[in-house]
Amino acid sequence: MGYVTRIVIIGGGPGGYEAALVAAQLGAEVTVVDCDGLGGASVLTDCVPSKTLIATAEVMTTFDSSYEELGIIVADDTPPLHGAPRVVGVDLGKVNRRVKRLALAQSHDIASAVTRAGATVMRGRGRLDGPQTAEGTRTVVVTAADGTEQRLTAEAVLVATGARPRELPDAMPDGERILNWTQVYDLDELPRELIVVGSGVTGAEFAGAYQALGSTVTLVSSRDRVLPGEDPDAAAVLEDVFRRRGMNVMSRSRAQSVKRVGDGVEATLTDGRVITGTHCLMAVGAIPNTSGMGLEEAGVKLTESGHIWTDKVSRTSASGVYAAGDVTGIFALASVAAMQGRIAMYHFLGDAVAPLNLKTVSSNVFTDPEIATVGYSQADVDSGRIDARLVKLPLLRNPRAKMQGIRDGFVKIFCRPGTGIVVGGVVVAPKASELIHPISIAVDNNLTVEQIANAFTVYPSLSGSIAEVARQLHNRKAGGQDQGLS
Ligand SMILES: Cc1cc2nc3c(=O)[nH]c(=O)nc-3n(C[C@H](O)[C@H](O)[C@H](O)COP(=O)(O)OP(=O)(O)OC[C@H]3O[C@@H](n4cnc5c(N)ncnc54)[C@H](O)[C@@H]3O)c2cc1C
Repeated sequence: MGYVTRIVIIGGGPGGYEAALVAAQLGAEVTVVDCDGLGGASVLTDCVPSKTLIATAEVMTTFDSSYEELGIIVADDTPPLHGAPRVVGVDLGKVNRRVKRLALAQSHDIASAVTRAGATVMRGRGRLDGPQTAEGTRTVVVTAADGTEQRLTAEAVLVATGARPRELPDAMPDGERILNWTQVYDLDELPRELIVVGSGVTGAEFAGAYQALGSTVTLVSSRDRVLPGEDPDAAAVLEDVFRRRGMNVMSRSRAQSVKRVGDGVEATLTDGRVITGTHCLMAVGAIPNTSGMGLEEAGVKLTESGHIWTDKVSRTSASGVYAAGDVTGIFALASVAAMQGRIAMYHFLGDAVAPLNLKTVSSNVFTDPEIATVGYSQADVDSGRIDARLVKLPLLRNPRAKMQGIRDGFVKIFCRPGTGIVVGGVVVAPKASELIHPISIAVDNNLTVEQIANAFTVYPSLSGSIAEVARQLHNRKAGGQDQGLS
C-alpha cells in the first residue's frame, strides 16, 4: 500500500467541511473533529437559520407593500381560501420549528457527503498537543462529551473553529428575553417590542426581519448610520426604508447595559437614556474560538484581535498547521471560509493553488432591499486605493421595477478609467444576491463595461439596469451621451 497523507480538521463549518471534501478527493486520509455538528455555526445557528427566518420575513414584506403598490387587498375578514384563513400574521413557533428542522437536515446532508467522500467524522472538541514532532507530524487530542480522549496523528492540521457571539458583561443573554443570534430560534411567540443592539450586518438583518414579521423594533446603532462597513449609499437607502416602515433607528447611541425587568427588558445607553422593550437581541460582533486549543504551545501566532494569523494560502506561523474561516478574521463569510479551507488543502497536498483574492469576493446583506457588493468599494475609490470611475442609477428608472412597485435601490458599477475594466459594484434591490452575479463574473474575469453593455438582457428586467450602468460608463469613456434607458 502506498503512503497516505493524514489530515485532521478541527471544526466542521464551511471552512472545515469543504476542506475535508477536497482533501478526501485528493486521496488524503481525513478526520473532521467537530463538537456541535457538521455545517458548523454557519448551518446550525448563523447563515442557514437566519436566511430561513428571513424567507418568511420577505413574504410578509411583500404582503405589506402589496396594497399600496399592487392593489392587493389582504384583510382579516377575507373569505378563507381552500379552508386556510387569509390573515397575514406569523406563527413564530412554526417558523422556528421549520428553521431548526432545515438546519439539522442540512447538517446531516453535509455529514453524509463528507463521509461518502471517504473522510471520518468525530464528535468532540479538538486541540493541538504541542509542537511538531521530529518526524514532521502533529498530534490532535479529541475530547468527547463523556470526557474520553483520543489522540490523532497527522501530517497537517486545519483549524477552522469559527467564532461565537461577543458578550457584554452588563448585557448577558439569558436565552429568554435577552438573546444572542443563536438563541432567537427558541422563541415561540413574536417579540412585541424588540430592541436590537448593534447595526452591523447581523443587527440590520434581524432588525429588518423582525419588523417585517410584526415586531416593533428599536435599532441601537453606535455609529452615524446603520451598516457602517457597507457602501454608504446603500446604507442610506436601507436606513431610510427602515425608518419609513416605522423602525426606531437610534444613531450614535451605545448600549451600556441591558437588564431584565419583570416581563421585559431595559437598555441603558451610555448617555443615560433608558429604552424598554419586551426582548433584546445583542448583535455586537463575534469573537474567534481559539481558547483552550493549545495554539500557543503549537507555535500558532494570533493577531492583535485574537484571530489566527494566516497567509494567502491559509498557512499559520506553525509548520503543518493551517487555518480557515472566521477564526482567521479575514472576511466573516461562509464562502470565504470554504475557499480558505480548500486553498489550504490544495496547498498542502501539492495541487495547483491560487492564493486567496479578496478583491473578487461577493457578499450580501439579507435585508429588504438586499445589498450585494463585489470587488473594490466606494471607500476604496474615495481613499484613492484604486483609481476608478463610477455610475449609479436608481432602480426607479427601471421599467420592471416600476411594474413591480419597487421604489428603493440602485445599481452602481466601478471601472478603471482608461480600460473600462470592471473592478467592483453594488446592487441594492430585492434579490440583489442574485443580481450581483454578472458583475462578479466581470470582476473575476477583467471584463470591460463595454462587454457587459453588449450582452443581451431580458426586457423588462432589473438586470437591464446593470447593462445600462455599464453602457453609461462606456459612453462616458467614449465621450457619448447618457441614454438613460434600461
Ligand atoms: C447571524 C449570522 C448570519 C450569517 N449569514 C451569512 C450569510 O448569509 N452568508 C455568509 O456567507 N456568511 C454568513 N455569516 C457568516 C458565516 O456564518 C461564517 O462566516 C461561517 O460560519 C464561518 O465558517 P467557519 O467554517 O469559519 O466556522 P463555523 O461555521 O463557525 O464552524 C465552526 C465549527 O467548529 C466547531 N468548533 C469550535 N471549536 C471547536 C473545537 N475545539 N473542536 C471541535 N470543533 C470546534 C464549532 O462548534 C462549529 O461547529 C453569518 C453569520 C452570522 C452570525
